Amino acid sequence: MNNGGGRFFKSSPRQRASIEIAGDTRYKVPWADVKATLKNVKMEVELGFDVATAWKEAQRCLNCDVQTVFTDRLCIECDACVDICPMDCITFTTNGDEKDLRSRLNAPAKDMTQDLYVSGPLKTQRVMVKDEDVCLHCGLCAERCPTGAWDMQKYLIEMALPGTNTLPYHKKAA
Ligand code: SF4
Ligand code: SF4
Repeated sequence: MNNGGGRFFKSSPRQRASIEIAGDTRYKVPWADVKATLKNVKMEVELGFDVATAWKEAQRCLNCDVQTVFTDRLCIECDACVDICPMDCITFTTNGDEKDLRSRLNAPAKDMTQDLYVSGPLKTQRVMVKDEDVCLHCGLCAERCPTGAWDMQKYLIEMALPGTNTLPYHKKAA
């Protein structure tokens, strides 16, 4: 389904947590007793993780917000990104509704709550469909692309602050 030139299908951010990457929030580094550390300026405050917690912290998604951004007007449909993607999550195909598209992806999208990224129409009237569920954000597609149609961009979220005239909230590429 062409959803208007590169927007996401439904699903909440928390639903996007994959099976392999833990969606845990940050683990707090244990502290020594505050009363004891306040009495002794040389006493170490942060005790560090034990092995089990360190392992969990290393497994969780750091949510770096670096995204693969696709610009359809730059794509020459050379398939270089399809060749290099280690996860087979990029598919160039004719358009269709979501159920139909899911059945024609190079790597079948099993999680129906997970977004599909669908580009606007390309020169051949095909579309680029990307399964966000399996994308590693490794950036190989952007490195390989000869035209810059794939780019890795970091997004910042600016929130409105009380008592100011800032915009409600928006995202922008860094
Ligand atoms: S970032 Fe990596 S895994 Fe994701 S589409 Fe590009 S090559 Fe594939
Ligand atoms: S490598 Fe770039 S130009 Fe080639 S098909 Fe992929 S996005 Fe399009």
